[in-house]
Amino acid sequence: MRKKIVAGNWKMNLDYKEGLSLFSEVVNMVNDEVTGNQQVVVCSPFIHLHSLVQLGKGVAKIAVGAQNAHQAESGAYTGEISAKMIRSVGAGYVILGHSERRQYFGETNELLAKKTDTALANDLKPIFCIGETLQERGLGKHFDVIKSQLAEGVFHLNETQFNKLVIAYEPVWAIGTGVTASSAQAQEIHHFIRKEIAAKYSQAIADATTILYGGSCNPTNAPELFAQHDIDGGLIGGASLKSRDFVDIVKVFN
Ligand code: PEP
Repeated sequence: MRKKIVAGNWKMNLDYKEGLSLFSEVVNMVNDEVTGNQQVVVCSPFIHLHSLVQLGKGVAKIAVGAQNAHQAESGAYTGEISAKMIRSVGAGYVILGHSERRQYFGETNELLAKKTDTALANDLKPIFCIGETLQERGLGKHFDVIKSQLAEGVFHLNETQFNKLVIAYEPVWAIGTGVTASSAQAQEIHHFIRKEIAAKYSQAIADATTILYGGSCNPTNAPELFAQHDIDGGLIGGASLKSRDFVDIVKVFN
């Protein structure tokens, strides 16, 4: 059975105190209410990471992640944060290739391939995001877009490296819009992603890869989405800022 994961992406929200307070609520609710083997990942701004790792110590179900990391190991990159720095505070995951990074910061598949290498070399598990825009879907190019994001972003990895990845399918038109992909639309793409992985690596690796859905996921639509055969959890933006909503989504896997 592949791992079920619900990951929260706080984006650029919550000051230091607010972040600690939300995370403490999540920890308490997870301790009291989560009964399955699902993994919870909270991806916070950098300033929270160290404190969240400390607060989450001893709660195996909860891991902490960053939302970006630089491709270089270290150096003269004023204002940037390295994978090694993130790992050094005990965070275990990093979101790479989120559509907001692709769109607002010009991150390309080529750059993301380097970021993935550096993250893995520093023992971070990338949550690698892919997904088409509304225009691309309208033109019927969504499968091609997904195919090239995989081929150019992560298919250079060897099997051992690829095994450490989590893939997140996030249709850009569903992120932060309140419009979710239907469960059939999401399943269709997840199935396609798994087929691509099987063709590149093996069916065993494809079957073991956790593929998350992201895009306006909430406690109401999560049960149907997560019931799809190839959907192994979610990457949750807006709803991860409310402890009750986030943990209710996590509990879909109880
Ligand atoms: C995200 O930012 O990854 C995301 C899925 O956001 P939202 O849940 O708010 O659509």
